[in-house]
Amino acid sequence: MTRQPKLPRGRSMGVQKLFTKAFLWVLVRVAAVIFLKDAGKHDYDIYPSTVLQEYDFVVVGSGSAGGVVAARLAETGWQVLLLEAGDTPPYASTVPGLAPVLLGYTDADWGYETVPQRHGLDAFEGNVSALA
Ligand SMILES: Cc1cc2nc3c(=O)[nH]c(=O)nc-3n(C[C@H](O)[C@H](O)[C@H](O)COP(=O)(O)OP(=O)(O)OC[C@H]3O[C@@H](n4cnc5c(N)ncnc54)[C@H](O)[C@@H]3O)c2cc1C
Repeated sequence: MTRQPKLPRGRSMGVQKLFTKAFLWVLVRVAAVIFLKDAGKHDYDIYPSTVLQEYDFVVVGSGSAGGVVAARLAETGWQVLLLEAGDTPPYASTVPGLAPVLLGYTDADWGYETVPQRHGLDAFEGNVSALA
């Protein structure tokens, strides 16, 4: 009977750790989807079927600042048109915990990438990662 060569202990532990990490990561994401299924639900009409002829305010860019400004204005009764670049974002983008999964694969971001990292991102192809 031939004996299978064993991986060095350090490496096999590394693989085990990686799988455990990946499993926990998936678990957290699934939990986020389940528990945050109401995340992103609000009173605003994010995909209005009709666009009005006039608005009190037009906010361009629904980032950190624009999103809040538009929300605060709308809460006080103004008619607000919030414009954001890109196509209709996927439904999953309403779950904050899923953002890292969507990065770079949908029209929800600009598809930017980091420059290749000399000292990091070793698990990524070309040491490059998607960036919002
Ligand atoms: C990788 C990364 C990590 C970060 N981490 C943190 C952190 O942990 N904590 C923290 O406090 N800050 C963090 N920041 C900084 C933070 O994200 C910014 O300071 C903040 O988002 C700036 O807000 P803003 O509203 O000015 O711009 P943005 O949030 O960038 O919003 C601008 C919006 O305008 C849109 N837009 C652009 N052009 C057009 C157009 N022509 N028409 C319509 N819409 C358009 C863009 O798509 C975007 O949604 C991070 C930034 C980066 C890049």
